[in-house]
Amino acid sequence: MRGEFLPYNQPELDEREVEALSAVVRSRWITRGPVTERFEAALSEYLGGVPVVALNSCTAGLHLGLLALGVGPGDEVITTPYTFAASVNVIEHVGARPVLVDVDPKTANLDFNQVVDHLSARTKAVLPVHFAGHPVDMEALTALREGYGISVLEDAAHALAAAWEGRLVGTFGNLTAFSFYATKNLATGEGGALVVPDPAMEARVRVLSLHGMSRNAWNRYTAAGSWAYAVEEAGFKYNMTDLQAALGLVQLEKLPAMQARRAAIAARYREGLRDLPVILPHVDPRVSHAWHLYPLRLQLQALTVDRAEVIEALRALNIGTSVHFIPIHLHPYYQRRYGWRRGDFPVAEAFFDAEISLPLYPGMSDLDVDDVVAALRQILERSLR
Ligand SMILES: *Cc1c(COP(=O)(O)O)cnc(C)c1O
Repeated sequence: MRGEFLPYNQPELDEREVEALSAVVRSRWITRGPVTERFEAALSEYLGGVPVVALNSCTAGLHLGLLALGVGPGDEVITTPYTFAASVNVIEHVGARPVLVDVDPKTANLDFNQVVDHLSARTKAVLPVHFAGHPVDMEALTALREGYGISVLEDAAHALAAAWEGRLVGTFGNLTAFSFYATKNLATGEGGALVVPDPAMEARVRVLSLHGMSRNAWNRYTAAGSWAYAVEEAGFKYNMTDLQAALGLVQLEKLPAMQARRAAIAARYREGLRDLPVILPHVDPRVSHAWHLYPLRLQLQALTVDRAEVIEALRALNIGTSVHFIPIHLHPYYQRRYGWRRGDFPVAEAFFDAEISLPLYPGMSDLDVDDVVAALRQILERSLR
C-alpha cells in the first residue's frame, strides 16, 4: 500500500503561476484589465480566432449564453441528466424549463436520437455536455441545429482541448462555455469563458457580464478611460479578474503538455486495467478526448461488492476517487420541482451506479498510476462473484 494519500485531482501549478500572479499584484491592477484582455486574445487564438468573453465561471457563461439566445419564461431547454447542477440551474435562472433526455450508454453524452423525440413547439435550445472530455456527436448536434432551427449552447466545462474529427470543441459555431474551476484541465481557481460567434451577441454578453454597463466600462479608472458609463440593462457581476487571467495565461501555455500527460495516464490505465471486471471509458475513433475525467465503470454483476465499498476500500489503500455525476433527477430539489424520480432515465442511472472517477491529473507519476491499478486489482480480484 502506498504511504501517502493520492488525491483524485490536483491543479498543475508551479513557480510560473506564482510569478505571473505576483506581477499582477505588484501592478496594483487586480480586477478585469489588460491581463484579462490578453487571456481572452490568447484563448481566442487557441480556438482559431472565435470571439471569447472571459468570465468568473462556466456557470456564468451558461447563464449569459441562455440570455443571449433569448431563452426565457415559457421556453424549454433540452439537456442531460448526466451533468453537474449548474447546467440545469441556469435554465431555471432564465425562467425556462429543463427537459431531460437520457444518455448514450457508452459515453454518458446526450443521445441525440432521443432528443429528436422530445422536441416541442416550446423547445428553444439544446444544452449538451461533453462528459469527461469526450465530445458529443458533433455531426448529430449540427444536424439538429440546422434541421430543426434550435439554438445550441455547449457545456464544455470538461472539454477544453477536446476535438471532433480534428476540430476543437468551441469552434463549431455554437455558444460554448468553458470552466477554469480549480479541478478543470485549465485551472484559475474560479473562472470560465464563453465563446460567442455572433458579434452582436458577443457585445451583449460583455455588457451583461459587467452590470449591464456599456462596453469597456472596466477601464473607467485608467488614464485612457472615462468616468462616464451608461447602464443599458440589469446585468450581472460575472467578469474575470486579472489575478485569474494571469494564472490562465500560464496554464494555456502549459495546456498542450498537460493534455499529453493526461492522455498518457489514460493509456496507462487502459493497459493496466483491461483484464479486470470493469468497463473502460469508451473513445469514439472520431474524437480527441480531453481526459478531464477517467470514468471507470465496475461490472457489478461480476462482483460481490458495490461501488461505495470499492471506493471505501480504495480510500483504505490511500487512493482518492470521486463519482461523476449523481444524475440531476436523483437530487431532492429537482424531484420536488419536476416530479422526476429514479427510473426516469435508466441509462444515466446504470452509468452512475457503476462509475468511479480515478485520479487523473498531469502531476501524477507513472508509479502513482500503477498504485491505483494495483489497488483496484487487489480489491476486485478478492471480490469476484
Ligand atoms: C464544473 C462544471 C460546471 C461549472 O463550472 P464552474 O466554472 O464551476 O461554474 C458546469 N458544468 C459541468 C459539466 C461541470 O463539470
